Amino acid sequence: MARTADLFDPSFKAEPYWWDAWRPQPLPVPQLPAKTAVTIIGGGYAGLSAALELARNNVEAVVLEANDFGFGASTRNGGMVSGGVTLGKSLGGKRTAGDAAAREALMSDLIGDAGASFYHLEDVLKRENIACHYTRSGRFTGAWTRRHYDALAGRLALLNGVAQVGASMLPRDRQREAIASDFYQGGMLIERAGQLHPALYYKGLLDVCRGRAITLSPQTRVVRVAGTQGAFTVTTNRGVLAAREVVVASNGYTGDATPKLKRKIIPVASHIIATVPLDPALARSLIPHNRAISDTQRILCYYRMSPDGTRMVFGGRARFTQVSPEISAPILYRYMTQRFPQLGGVKLTHAWTGNVAFTFDFMPHMGREDGLHYALGCNGSGVAMMSYLGHQVARKIVGGGNRVSAFEDIDFPGHAGYAGNPWFLPLVGGYYRMRDRLDRMLDR
Ligand SMILES: Cc1cc2nc3c(=O)[nH]c(=O)nc-3n(C[C@H](O)[C@H](O)[C@H](O)COP(=O)(O)OP(=O)(O)OC[C@H]3O[C@@H](n4cnc5c(N)ncnc54)[C@H](O)[C@@H]3O)c2cc1C
Repeated sequence: MARTADLFDPSFKAEPYWWDAWRPQPLPVPQLPAKTAVTIIGGGYAGLSAALELARNNVEAVVLEANDFGFGASTRNGGMVSGGVTLGKSLGGKRTAGDAAAREALMSDLIGDAGASFYHLEDVLKRENIACHYTRSGRFTGAWTRRHYDALAGRLALLNGVAQVGASMLPRDRQREAIASDFYQGGMLIERAGQLHPALYYKGLLDVCRGRAITLSPQTRVVRVAGTQGAFTVTTNRGVLAAREVVVASNGYTGDATPKLKRKIIPVASHIIATVPLDPALARSLIPHNRAISDTQRILCYYRMSPDGTRMVFGGRARFTQVSPEISAPILYRYMTQRFPQLGGVKLTHAWTGNVAFTFDFMPHMGREDGLHYALGCNGSGVAMMSYLGHQVARKIVGGGNRVSAFEDIDFPGHAGYAGNPWFLPLVGGYYRMRDRLDRMLDR
């Protein structure tokens, strides 16, 4: 293994590769209105999508963002658009183990609704004319073990039946049709999946919102929300405003302003590296049909080629907490070269990190807590989903009390021993790494 310093190209930057195309930048800081119909906390995909749908229905909205717009996960992610194929590791809440039929019906409902998030994203990109290198080039999920391969095969009927995702299995001896690697035990191909440039998608949404009657307030951190539905008081570092409705869209950055919701979210760091532009023949050979790739390990990796096809953009949970590139990059580099030994010696130009929001049932959620609307809990897959849930919360506000999404119907569980401080993450990370190694050793 090379020394850490040897991995970095002289042009190396500890920031997202995506920010070379568009970076969060200071916007004018407006005077806060004394009152508004809807206040939105957080200016990522969810917050902006909510604001846009409200504005399209002539409902006044103010988006309060603690940092510059684009600071959060929405300009840091891998840009893989999955639309719900990763849903359903487990379901918590009131339903019991005996409720198998209800659980299955609910799962179908959720997967169907998650599919709607995929088409919603495609519709918005088209309707708002957002240029972000979107392509529907499919996804390959590599099986870490033969058991995982069988488990993936067991989900085919559900995914194809309920959500028509065009899923099929690719056995190990045909795996090189999807990836120039023998690392996996085969895997699942999903045709209805895509990828985009996350920062350009974000910029597109932000530009559309700037062209509407939406108040966008950067550097405005919400510190407290008091009151009840219809009459909230929102206190920020820049003053106080009254709001009839409040939408919490702070996802992996949810903090003490909404303490009950903070207790339901486990912020987990995800890390990504990008390589220098590769030799063109090598670059073309790595992922033959330009699929987005992920795998089934507990410490999962996800990767793809850059939109111009020249670089490998490789992400994973190198650590579950925020760490410097000196720590995360060598780990991701090892994961990358385990999958692609042909990338050994290639230098890195970027390494970065961001927070994803895990929930105790591994499900995204929308609903109300103490009268506050929320769209939270991407569990690592939120490009389509958080955009959709933000939009759906706005539909709920515009349309009154009707159910707009299956994700409203599930309880949003907390855990008695968790107060919002994920001190246990390093331990969980170590345990998961051990379980992954054991799974492969004990695979039949
Ligand atoms: C490294 C990484 C890779 C990922 N890869 C993928 C992928 O390939 N595909 C995929 O589907 N998903 C991926 N995700 C997840 C996806 O990026 C997120 O689900 C999505 O961006 C969440 O959008 P959001 O609007 O809910 O939250 P964010 O974009 O995180 O925005 C939340 C905002 O709330 C603000 N905020 C927090 N508290 C306050 C407060 N008190 N007052 C005001 N503002 C506040 C924050 O500053 C932040 O800007 C990835 C995430 C990361 C971090």
